[in-house]
Amino acid sequence: MNDAAAISVKGLRKAYGANEAVRGIDLEVRTGEVFALLGPNGAGKTTTVEILEGFRERDAGDVRVLGYDPAHHDRAFRERVGIVLQSTSLSQYLTVEETIEQYRGYYARPRPLGEILDVVGLGEQRDVRTNRLSGGQQRRLDVAVGLAGDPELLFLDEPTTGFDPAARRNAWELITNLKALGKTVLLTTHYMDEAEHLADRVAIVVQGQIVAQGAPRELAKGEQAAVIRFALPQGARALPGELAAARSANGLVEIETEEATRLLHQLTSWALEHEAELEGLTVSRASLEETYLRLTREAERQAAETPPAPAGSRRRRGRRR
Ligand code: ATP
Repeated sequence: MNDAAAISVKGLRKAYGANEAVRGIDLEVRTGEVFALLGPNGAGKTTTVEILEGFRERDAGDVRVLGYDPAHHDRAFRERVGIVLQSTSLSQYLTVEETIEQYRGYYARPRPLGEILDVVGLGEQRDVRTNRLSGGQQRRLDVAVGLAGDPELLFLDEPTTGFDPAARRNAWELITNLKALGKTVLLTTHYMDEAEHLADRVAIVVQGQIVAQGAPRELAKGEQAAVIRFALPQGARALPGELAAARSANGLVEIETEEATRLLHQLTSWALEHEAELEGLTVSRASLEETYLRLTREAERQAAETPPAPAGSRRRRGRRR
Protein backbone atom coordinates (compact mmCIF):
# COMPACT_ATOMS: atom_id res chain seq x y z
CA MET A 1 0.00 0.00 0.00
CA ASN A 2 1.09 3.57 -0.61
CA ASP A 3 1.75 5.48 2.62
CA ALA A 4 1.34 8.84 0.87
CA ALA A 5 -2.24 7.97 -0.01
CA ALA A 6 -4.96 9.46 2.18
CA ILE A 7 -7.00 6.29 1.75
CA SER A 8 -5.82 2.81 0.73
CA VAL A 9 -8.20 -0.09 0.43
CA LYS A 10 -7.33 -3.63 -0.68
CA GLY A 11 -9.70 -6.55 -1.04
CA LEU A 12 -12.50 -4.95 0.99
CA ARG A 13 -15.49 -7.22 1.62
CA LYS A 14 -18.68 -6.83 3.59
CA ALA A 15 -21.84 -8.93 3.62
CA TYR A 16 -25.14 -8.40 5.39
CA GLY A 17 -26.23 -11.97 5.93
CA ALA A 18 -26.28 -13.54 2.47
CA ASN A 19 -26.20 -10.17 0.73
CA GLU A 20 -22.62 -9.42 -0.36
CA ALA A 21 -22.75 -5.64 -0.41
CA VAL A 22 -19.00 -5.13 -1.03
CA ARG A 23 -17.18 -7.84 -2.97
CA GLY A 24 -13.46 -7.10 -3.13
CA ILE A 25 -12.87 -3.38 -3.57
CA ASP A 26 -9.39 -1.94 -4.18
CA LEU A 27 -9.15 1.81 -3.96
CA GLU A 28 -6.58 4.53 -3.44
CA VAL A 29 -7.35 8.18 -2.78
CA ARG A 30 -4.35 10.49 -3.01
CA THR A 31 -3.71 13.23 -0.51
CA GLY A 32 -5.27 16.50 -1.69
CA GLU A 33 -7.53 15.09 -4.35
CA VAL A 34 -11.29 15.09 -4.72
CA PHE A 35 -12.39 11.51 -5.34
CA ALA A 36 -15.97 10.56 -6.21
CA LEU A 37 -17.62 7.18 -5.68
CA LEU A 38 -20.35 6.66 -8.28
CA GLY A 39 -22.79 3.82 -8.72
CA PRO A 40 -26.46 2.87 -8.76
CA ASN A 41 -28.60 2.60 -5.62
CA GLY A 42 -27.50 -0.33 -3.51
CA ALA A 43 -24.09 -0.64 -5.22
CA GLY A 44 -22.21 -0.61 -1.93
CA LYS A 45 -20.90 2.97 -1.85
CA THR A 46 -22.30 3.90 1.56
CA THR A 47 -21.18 0.60 3.06
CA THR A 48 -17.66 1.26 1.77
CA VAL A 49 -17.64 4.84 3.02
CA GLU A 50 -19.00 3.83 6.42
CA ILE A 51 -16.17 1.31 6.79
CA LEU A 52 -13.66 4.04 5.91
CA GLU A 53 -15.27 6.37 8.45
CA GLY A 54 -15.04 3.69 11.16
CA PHE A 55 -18.82 3.38 11.49
CA ARG A 56 -19.05 -0.15 10.14
CA GLU A 57 -17.00 -3.30 10.62
CA ARG A 58 -15.58 -5.00 7.56
CA ASP A 59 -15.48 -8.74 6.94
CA ALA A 60 -12.15 -8.75 5.10
CA GLY A 61 -9.57 -6.53 3.46
CA ASP A 62 -6.86 -4.01 4.37
CA VAL A 63 -8.00 -0.45 5.01
CA ARG A 64 -5.81 2.54 5.86
CA VAL A 65 -7.25 6.03 6.26
CA LEU A 66 -4.61 8.70 7.01
CA GLY A 67 -2.45 5.78 8.09
CA TYR A 68 -5.01 4.50 10.63
CA ASP A 69 -7.19 1.43 10.58
CA PRO A 70 -10.61 3.03 11.10
CA ALA A 71 -11.86 -0.14 12.82
CA HIS A 72 -9.62 0.76 15.81
CA HIS A 73 -11.54 4.01 16.47
CA ASP A 74 -8.43 5.96 17.52
CA ARG A 75 -9.26 9.38 18.89
CA ALA A 76 -6.44 10.88 16.80
CA PHE A 77 -8.12 9.46 13.70
CA ARG A 78 -11.46 11.04 14.63
CA GLU A 79 -9.72 14.40 15.07
CA ARG A 80 -8.33 14.29 11.54
CA VAL A 81 -11.42 13.36 9.54
CA GLY A 82 -14.65 15.26 8.96
CA ILE A 83 -17.89 13.52 8.08
CA VAL A 84 -20.95 14.99 6.39
CA LEU A 85 -23.75 12.45 6.28
CA GLN A 86 -26.68 12.45 3.88
CA SER A 87 -28.93 13.87 6.54
CA THR A 88 -27.94 15.42 9.83
CA SER A 89 -29.96 16.54 12.79
CA LEU A 90 -28.55 19.81 14.05
CA SER A 91 -30.44 21.74 16.71
CA GLN A 92 -33.08 23.96 15.14
CA TYR A 93 -32.84 26.56 17.90
CA LEU A 94 -29.18 27.48 17.77
CA THR A 95 -27.78 30.10 15.42
CA VAL A 96 -25.26 29.24 12.73
CA GLU A 97 -22.44 30.55 14.90
CA GLU A 98 -23.62 28.70 18.02
CA THR A 99 -23.91 25.46 16.07
CA ILE A 100 -20.39 25.69 14.68
CA GLU A 101 -19.03 26.74 18.09
CA GLN A 102 -20.68 23.72 19.69
CA TYR A 103 -18.82 21.37 17.32
CA ARG A 104 -15.56 23.33 17.55
CA GLY A 105 -15.71 22.61 21.28
CA TYR A 106 -15.30 18.90 20.61
CA TYR A 107 -11.85 19.27 19.08
CA ALA A 108 -8.41 20.01 20.46
CA ARG A 109 -7.39 22.17 17.48
CA PRO A 110 -10.54 23.48 15.83
CA ARG A 111 -10.48 25.64 12.72
CA PRO A 112 -11.17 29.33 13.50
CA LEU A 113 -14.88 30.18 13.30
CA GLY A 114 -14.41 33.04 10.82
CA GLU A 115 -12.50 30.81 8.42
CA ILE A 116 -15.18 28.14 8.54
CA LEU A 117 -17.89 30.73 7.84
CA ASP A 118 -15.86 32.05 4.90
CA VAL A 119 -15.23 28.64 3.35
CA VAL A 120 -18.88 27.64 3.49
CA GLY A 121 -20.17 31.12 2.63
CA LEU A 122 -22.39 31.58 5.69
CA GLY A 123 -20.79 34.79 7.04
CA GLU A 124 -23.96 36.80 6.55
CA GLN A 125 -26.08 34.14 8.25
CA ARG A 126 -23.93 33.72 11.37
CA ASP A 127 -26.66 35.03 13.70
CA VAL A 128 -29.54 33.29 11.93
CA ARG A 129 -31.27 30.35 13.64
CA THR A 130 -30.79 27.12 11.74
CA ASN A 131 -34.55 26.63 11.29
CA ARG A 132 -34.58 29.87 9.27
CA LEU A 133 -31.95 28.68 6.78
CA SER A 134 -32.81 27.50 3.28
CA GLY A 135 -32.16 23.86 2.39
CA GLY A 136 -28.93 24.79 0.61
CA GLN A 137 -27.75 26.91 3.54
CA GLN A 138 -28.51 24.06 5.97
CA ARG A 139 -26.38 21.74 3.87
CA ARG A 140 -23.55 24.29 4.03
CA LEU A 141 -23.94 24.30 7.78
CA ASP A 142 -23.60 20.49 7.70
CA VAL A 143 -20.31 20.98 5.89
CA ALA A 144 -19.28 23.73 8.35
CA VAL A 145 -19.82 21.28 11.20
CA GLY A 146 -17.77 18.67 9.32
CA LEU A 147 -14.97 21.24 9.10
CA ALA A 148 -15.07 22.23 12.78
CA GLY A 149 -12.08 20.11 13.73
CA ASP A 150 -10.09 21.31 10.69
CA PRO A 151 -9.94 17.79 9.22
CA GLU A 152 -7.42 16.74 6.58
CA LEU A 153 -9.94 14.43 5.00
CA LEU A 154 -13.63 15.11 4.49
CA PHE A 155 -16.29 12.53 3.63
CA LEU A 156 -19.26 14.08 1.81
CA ASP A 157 -22.23 11.82 1.23
CA GLU A 158 -24.40 13.11 -1.65
CA PRO A 159 -23.66 16.76 -0.88
CA THR A 160 -26.11 18.30 -3.37
CA THR A 161 -29.08 15.93 -3.52
CA GLY A 162 -32.28 17.97 -3.71
CA PHE A 163 -30.53 21.25 -4.49
CA ASP A 164 -31.74 23.73 -7.10
CA PRO A 165 -29.21 24.52 -9.86
CA ALA A 166 -27.93 27.69 -8.18
CA ALA A 167 -27.47 25.96 -4.82
CA ARG A 168 -25.60 23.13 -6.55
CA ARG A 169 -23.22 25.60 -8.17
CA ASN A 170 -22.61 27.18 -4.75
CA ALA A 171 -21.92 23.77 -3.24
CA TRP A 172 -19.47 23.04 -6.03
CA GLU A 173 -17.69 26.27 -5.27
CA LEU A 174 -17.52 25.26 -1.63
CA ILE A 175 -15.94 21.91 -2.51
CA THR A 176 -13.48 23.68 -4.80
CA ASN A 177 -12.59 25.93 -1.82
CA LEU A 178 -11.91 22.85 0.29
CA LYS A 179 -9.59 21.47 -2.34
CA ALA A 180 -7.77 24.80 -2.47
CA LEU A 181 -7.20 24.48 1.28
CA GLY A 182 -5.39 21.20 0.57
CA LYS A 183 -8.14 18.96 1.97
CA THR A 184 -8.72 15.49 0.61
CA VAL A 185 -12.39 14.95 -0.21
CA LEU A 186 -14.17 11.64 -0.76
CA LEU A 187 -17.68 12.21 -2.01
CA THR A 188 -20.52 10.08 -3.24
CA THR A 189 -22.89 11.45 -5.83
CA HIS A 190 -25.50 10.37 -8.36
CA TYR A 191 -24.80 13.39 -10.57
CA MET A 192 -22.29 12.71 -13.31
CA ASP A 193 -21.87 16.40 -14.13
CA GLU A 194 -20.97 16.97 -10.49
CA ALA A 195 -18.32 14.26 -10.59
CA GLU A 196 -17.03 15.58 -13.90
CA HIS A 197 -16.81 19.10 -12.54
CA LEU A 198 -15.32 18.35 -9.13
CA ALA A 199 -13.50 15.06 -9.05
CA ASP A 200 -9.87 14.50 -9.93
CA ARG A 201 -10.71 10.81 -10.09
CA VAL A 202 -13.80 8.68 -9.79
CA ALA A 203 -14.58 5.01 -9.18
CA ILE A 204 -17.73 3.44 -10.55
CA VAL A 205 -19.10 0.80 -8.19
CA VAL A 206 -21.60 -1.78 -9.40
CA GLN A 207 -22.89 -4.61 -7.23
CA GLY A 208 -20.09 -4.31 -4.71
CA GLN A 209 -17.22 -4.11 -7.18
CA ILE A 210 -15.35 -1.33 -8.92
CA VAL A 211 -15.91 -1.61 -12.66
CA ALA A 212 -13.89 1.46 -13.67
CA GLN A 213 -11.60 3.95 -12.00
CA GLY A 214 -9.73 7.01 -13.23
CA ALA A 215 -9.97 10.67 -14.17
CA PRO A 216 -13.45 11.47 -15.56
CA ARG A 217 -11.98 12.57 -18.89
CA GLU A 218 -9.96 9.37 -19.20
CA LEU A 219 -13.00 7.22 -18.54
CA ALA A 220 -15.10 9.08 -21.09
CA LYS A 221 -12.34 8.81 -23.72
CA GLY A 222 -13.17 5.27 -24.76
CA GLU A 223 -16.71 6.28 -25.64
CA GLN A 224 -18.23 6.96 -29.04
CA ALA A 225 -16.78 9.80 -31.04
CA ALA A 226 -18.15 13.31 -31.02
CA VAL A 227 -21.54 13.92 -32.62
CA ILE A 228 -22.16 16.91 -34.90
CA ARG A 229 -25.81 17.86 -35.40
CA PHE A 230 -27.45 20.55 -37.51
CA ALA A 231 -30.49 21.20 -39.69
CA LEU A 232 -29.92 20.80 -43.42
CA PRO A 233 -30.06 24.34 -44.87
CA GLN A 234 -33.14 25.16 -46.98
CA GLY A 235 -32.62 24.26 -50.62
CA ALA A 236 -29.43 22.25 -49.99
CA ARG A 237 -29.66 18.95 -51.75
CA ALA A 238 -26.35 17.32 -50.96
CA LEU A 239 -23.54 17.89 -48.52
CA PRO A 240 -19.96 17.92 -49.77
CA GLY A 241 -17.28 15.21 -49.57
CA GLU A 242 -17.36 12.88 -46.58
CA LEU A 243 -20.40 14.69 -45.20
CA ALA A 244 -22.52 13.37 -48.05
CA ALA A 245 -22.78 10.02 -46.28
CA ALA A 246 -24.17 11.56 -43.08
CA ARG A 247 -27.43 10.28 -41.62
CA SER A 248 -30.32 12.65 -41.91
CA ALA A 249 -33.95 12.45 -40.85
CA ASN A 250 -36.59 15.19 -41.05
CA GLY A 251 -33.93 17.55 -42.35
CA LEU A 252 -31.76 17.00 -39.26
CA VAL A 253 -28.26 15.75 -39.95
CA GLU A 254 -26.26 13.72 -37.43
CA ILE A 255 -22.61 12.84 -37.96
CA GLU A 256 -20.59 10.65 -35.62
CA THR A 257 -16.91 11.32 -35.99
CA GLU A 258 -13.53 10.94 -34.37
CA GLU A 259 -12.30 13.97 -36.32
CA ALA A 260 -14.77 16.64 -35.29
CA THR A 261 -12.42 19.55 -35.96
CA ARG A 262 -11.66 18.53 -39.54
CA LEU A 263 -15.26 17.75 -40.42
CA LEU A 264 -16.51 20.96 -38.84
CA HIS A 265 -14.01 22.87 -40.94
CA GLN A 266 -15.31 21.18 -44.09
CA LEU A 267 -18.90 21.78 -43.07
CA THR A 268 -18.60 25.42 -42.08
CA SER A 269 -16.47 26.25 -45.15
CA TRP A 270 -19.16 24.74 -47.35
CA ALA A 271 -21.89 26.66 -45.47
CA LEU A 272 -20.04 29.97 -45.76
CA GLU A 273 -19.42 29.40 -49.45
CA HIS A 274 -23.15 28.80 -49.98
CA GLU A 275 -24.17 31.55 -47.55
CA ALA A 276 -26.18 28.95 -45.68
CA GLU A 277 -26.92 29.15 -41.96
CA LEU A 278 -26.49 25.83 -40.14
CA GLU A 279 -29.46 26.04 -37.79
CA GLY A 280 -29.12 24.20 -34.48
CA LEU A 281 -25.44 23.36 -35.00
CA THR A 282 -24.06 21.48 -31.97
CA VAL A 283 -21.04 19.31 -31.27
CA SER A 284 -21.29 17.03 -28.27
CA ARG A 285 -18.49 15.04 -26.77
CA ALA A 286 -18.82 11.75 -24.95
CA SER A 287 -19.46 12.41 -21.29
CA LEU A 288 -18.83 10.53 -18.08
CA GLU A 289 -22.58 9.87 -18.00
CA GLU A 290 -22.37 7.76 -21.17
CA THR A 291 -19.49 5.72 -19.73
CA TYR A 292 -21.36 5.33 -16.47
CA LEU A 293 -24.55 4.14 -18.16
CA ARG A 294 -22.72 1.71 -20.42
CA LEU A 295 -20.66 0.19 -17.59
CA THR A 296 -23.54 -0.09 -15.14
CA ARG A 297 -25.82 -1.67 -17.76
CA GLU A 298 -23.12 -4.15 -18.80
CA ALA A 299 -22.37 -5.14 -15.21
CA GLU A 300 -26.05 -5.48 -14.37
CA ARG A 301 -26.68 -7.56 -17.49
CA GLN A 302 -23.83 -9.90 -16.56
CA ALA A 303 -25.15 -10.21 -13.03
CA ALA A 304 -28.64 -11.03 -14.34
CA GLU A 305 -27.14 -13.92 -16.29
CA THR A 306 -25.64 -15.48 -13.16
CA PRO A 307 -27.92 -17.17 -10.58
CA PRO A 308 -29.23 -14.72 -7.93
CA ALA A 309 -27.92 -14.73 -4.36
CA PRO A 310 -30.45 -15.78 -1.73
CA ALA A 311 -32.83 -13.00 -0.71
CA GLY A 312 -32.38 -11.25 2.61
CA SER A 313 -31.02 -7.83 1.81
CA ARG A 314 -32.77 -4.86 3.17
CA ARG A 315 -32.62 -1.20 2.43
CA ARG A 316 -30.40 0.29 5.02
CA ARG A 317 -29.51 2.55 7.13
CA GLY A 318 -28.95 3.45 10.80
CA ARG A 319 -25.72 5.27 11.07
CA ARG A 320 -24.58 7.24 13.97
CA ARG A 321 -22.66 10.47 13.89
P1 ATP B 1 -27.41 4.43 -2.50
O1 ATP B 1 -26.92 5.02 -3.77
O2 ATP B 1 -28.85 4.07 -2.59
O3 ATP B 1 -27.07 5.26 -1.29
P2 ATP B 1 -25.22 2.55 -1.94
O4 ATP B 1 -24.38 2.35 -3.14
O5 ATP B 1 -24.74 3.49 -0.92
O6 ATP B 1 -26.71 2.96 -2.36
P3 ATP B 1 -25.35 0.59 0.22
O7 ATP B 1 -26.21 1.44 1.07
O8 ATP B 1 -23.93 0.43 0.63
O9 ATP B 1 -25.41 1.08 -1.31
O10 ATP B 1 -26.05 -0.83 0.12
C1 ATP B 1 -25.44 -1.95 -0.49
C2 ATP B 1 -26.31 -3.19 -0.23
O11 ATP B 1 -26.27 -3.49 1.17
C3 ATP B 1 -27.76 -3.01 -0.58
O12 ATP B 1 -28.24 -4.26 -1.05
C4 ATP B 1 -28.42 -2.68 0.75
O13 ATP B 1 -29.77 -3.08 0.77
C5 ATP B 1 -27.58 -3.47 1.72
N1 ATP B 1 -27.48 -2.83 3.06
C6 ATP B 1 -27.00 -1.59 3.32
N2 ATP B 1 -27.02 -1.33 4.64
C7 ATP B 1 -27.53 -2.43 5.25
C8 ATP B 1 -27.80 -2.80 6.60
N3 ATP B 1 -27.54 -1.95 7.60
N4 ATP B 1 -28.30 -4.02 6.83
C9 ATP B 1 -28.54 -4.89 5.82
N5 ATP B 1 -28.32 -4.61 4.52
C10 ATP B 1 -27.82 -3.41 4.23
